[in-house]
Order: sequence, then C-alpha cells, then structure tokens
Amino acid sequence: MVHFVGAGSGAADLITVRGARLLGEADVVIYAGSLVNPDLLSYTKADCEIHDSSRMTLEEVLAMIKRAEGEGKTTVRLHTGDSSIYGAVREQFDALDDAGITYDICPGVSSFCGAAASLKTEYTLPGVSQTVIITRAAGKTPVPEQESIRSLAAHQATMILFLSTSLSEKLQADLLSGGYDAETPAAVVYKATWPEEKIFRCTVGNLHQTIRKNGLTKTALIIIGNCLGDDYLRSLLYDPGFSTEFRERARV
Ligand code: SAH
Repeated sequence: MVHFVGAGSGAADLITVRGARLLGEADVVIYAGSLVNPDLLSYTKADCEIHDSSRMTLEEVLAMIKRAEGEGKTTVRLHTGDSSIYGAVREQFDALDDAGITYDICPGVSSFCGAAASLKTEYTLPGVSQTVIITRAAGKTPVPEQESIRSLAAHQATMILFLSTSLSEKLQADLLSGGYDAETPAAVVYKATWPEEKIFRCTVGNLHQTIRKNGLTKTALIIIGNCLGDDYLRSLLYDPGFSTEFRERARV
C-alpha cells in the first residue's frame, strides 16, 4: 500500500493528524527533500527506510515503491503542501494504476493557505474579489497561451503565483499590461510557516525590485490583489439584517 501524504507548507506540526499517523506507520518514506521540512521525519519509526526524491527520477521513485510493495511494506510518498498543486503526482498515480498497486491520498495544507495565515489575510473579500487564481509564470514548464498572466490579470482577482520568483521581471510587466494597477497591493512570502519565514509587502509596480533586492529566488509565493488592501464590504453571512438557514434576521 502506498500513501501520498501532503506534508503541509513547512512547520512540522502543520501536517494533518492522519498524515502524521501514516508517517508513523510507514516502512519506507520517500520525501521531496527540496521542500519538505526534514523535522517531519521525526514522526517515522526507528527502522523506517528514508529516501530523498529530490535526487531521484520518476523511474527511480517508482522502482523503489515497487520493490517495497514486493516486500509487503507500506510506503509514504511525502509531498510538500498539498500534492494536488504542482505536485507531479498524476504521473505516479497512473504508473501505480498500471502496475496494479493500491494507493490513497492524504491532503495537506498548501503553501498558499499557509501564506494567507502568515499574511493574516482573506483571499476572498466581499466587494473586492470572490475568485482566487492559482497559477505560475511560464518558465521551463510552459503555460497554455489561454492562461497567460496577461489574460488572467484582466480579471483583477486575487492571484497566487507559485514557482515564479525567478521570473519576476516579465511577470510584473505582464501583470501591469494585463490590467492590474501599479498601486495594487502585492506580497511575497518566503518559506511561509517555516521558522525562517519572511514577508515582503509591496505593490505590483515594485514587485520585481522587491524580489531582486531581497535575493528571493525560490520557496516563495507571490500574492497579488486588493484583498491585501484596506477596503472591503462586511459579509452578509454575519450581517444582522439578513436571515440565513440558521439565523433569523434581527427585527428593528
Ligand atoms: N504542492 C505545493 C507546491 C509545490 S510547487 C503546495 O501545495 O504548496 C513548489 C513551489 O511552491 C515553490 O517554488 C514555491 O513557489 C511554493 N512553496 C512551497 N512551499 C512554500 C512555502 N512554505 N512558502 C512559500 N512558497 C512555498
């Protein structure tokens, strides 16, 4: 049996209770050493076999899982954040399906959720934006043309950019030409929820300069949008003037 486990965004105690239990039961752990906090390995049992996948190919990971299966062992494949976001898991699921190996998936706290907590912000504010766009700038991995930053920027929604700090010059130009105002608030969160976390608040107009000046090249998220500003409408859900399924509106 193979369990894909989301490690969470950084802090070792941000893994789910289920994820921690699965780690504790595993005979073999293959973890993404480039991004997963090694402190999480303290949840494993003493004789657990531990491998860092950042030095391995997909083929080597699969061979290791298949060997463990053949020996009747339980494997945890530990991915950073939640494995559904830039996790490179689909190719593993398909290969395991082909090999007839059973697996399941335990979700994790994605770094974009970790970053919201670090920023003490809400991405979906009434009167500001009700949409969160999760995307990346096109680099070595291409992005489909219909999802270009320019076209997504036209929505003025909250935008979260993964894997894009090293591409910030073109990114900033595309955000501006796509429709965000230069004054639109932005933030760069480096290693959200890790002990060494750093937050840089800026605007779309000085995003690239902020990233370059602070030497940010990886393990950072870029968040764009007026949700980082001061203006919004209060929610209807908790407004005394509105009834909900659970609460009668207040009578004046
Ligand atoms: N599955 C992961 C994302 C993996 S892609 C998740 O759900 O978070 C790797 C990218 O995620 C990094 O380049 C960076 O952009 C972002 N990232 C991962 N952990 C981060 C963290 N703790 N703080 C900021 N960005 C992070």
